[in-house]
Amino acid sequence: MHIVVRGAGIFGLSIAWACVERGERVSVVDPHGPGAGASGGLVGALAPHVPEAWNTKKALQFESLAMAEGFWAGVGAATGLDPLYARAGRIQPLADADAVDRARERAASAHDLWQGRYRWEILPADTFPGLVDSPTGLVVHDTLSARLHPRQALAALVRALAAKGVSVTADAPKGDTVIHATGVAGLWELNGIAGNRIVGAGVKGQAATLARDLGPVPQVYADGLHIVPHGDGTVAIGSTSEREWDDPASTDEKLDEVIAAARAACPALRDAPVIERWAGLRPRARSRAPMLGRHPLHDGEFIANGGFKIGFGMAPLVAKLMADLVIAGIDAIPPEFRPEASLA
Ligand SMILES: Cc1cc2nc3c(=O)[nH]c(=O)nc-3n(C[C@H](O)[C@H](O)[C@H](O)COP(=O)(O)OP(=O)(O)OC[C@H]3O[C@@H](n4cnc5c(N)ncnc54)[C@H](O)[C@@H]3O)c2cc1C
Repeated sequence: MHIVVRGAGIFGLSIAWACVERGERVSVVDPHGPGAGASGGLVGALAPHVPEAWNTKKALQFESLAMAEGFWAGVGAATGLDPLYARAGRIQPLADADAVDRARERAASAHDLWQGRYRWEILPADTFPGLVDSPTGLVVHDTLSARLHPRQALAALVRALAAKGVSVTADAPKGDTVIHATGVAGLWELNGIAGNRIVGAGVKGQAATLARDLGPVPQVYADGLHIVPHGDGTVAIGSTSEREWDDPASTDEKLDEVIAAARAACPALRDAPVIERWAGLRPRARSRAPMLGRHPLHDGEFIANGGFKIGFGMAPLVAKLMADLVIAGIDAIPPEFRPEASLA
């Protein structure tokens, strides 16, 4: 079978890699080149939702986060280029006694829901000196969260594919089947087909990179912000979440506020210089979940979209589910992740 993957973001490249690994002939097409969309950003937090009120989305996110270590080790080994993946954990400051009580309950539910493989525990904040200020002196530490350098990960995937003879081209060759992983453009194409309803949209996010080598410490989640120390001596911080925007790629005072809040939360960043400011559009399906399966417009073709805020975290599982479906005809995609969930 010759599979044409449209879109060289994290979804398209991961799916292409999973298909190549199964011995299929694959072509990747992207007129704008790899990482031209949301995947060309900075943050790279692979972090779980809270371990309570379990549902399909949380269960599949857990499965994908657990798969990530093997997936990225495989990509790195195939190329020698390190995607800078590390399961370095995450800490979150606890604001008051209520937050501490909630964290204790979640520690118990995490033990069951995360199958005893990862911990959600309460520790003194000074276990991680200088990383975060906590009003109670306590933090939640989880050992499931990981970080991945988005651009390095994309570069590693591109190189791994090239080593198997697959390059990213601007023109579409003819194949036996097509998988559309075209991010926001692919969602916009669907708008209007369900009785003029919005099927998907682009939610703008602004992020920044600071120069500070914090070593292999956990990432921080504080006041809704991700602070992610990367393996290249930088720290990514993000993000804004903007449904209304004029220019998807510009940064402004909203990012200044994010940077100020990150510096306030994390003492180690107070004088760290900003080295990059970036903005892009997250592909958000109406269901807010990934949109995987048969393409609603293109007969006999497939779609993988809707990564929204967790596209990097979901990529290993998305790649597996799509390869299973397209190559083996095994459809293990739950109803919540199908295009119909956003079309209904
Ligand atoms: C500020 C910000 C912070 C984020 N932080 C995180 C995070 O910490 N952790 C996380 O897991 N996720 C995060 N995300 C979300 C994540 O980046 C996205 O979910 C993910 O990148 C989406 O990947 P994608 O491959 O579906 O789409 P994209 O990366 O947008 O790729 C789509 C590609 O399709 C191409 N394309 C468009 N039209 C066509 C066509 N007709 N033919 C061929 N190709 C086409 C585009 O050029 C583009 O390269 C963040 C997003 C933003 C914006």
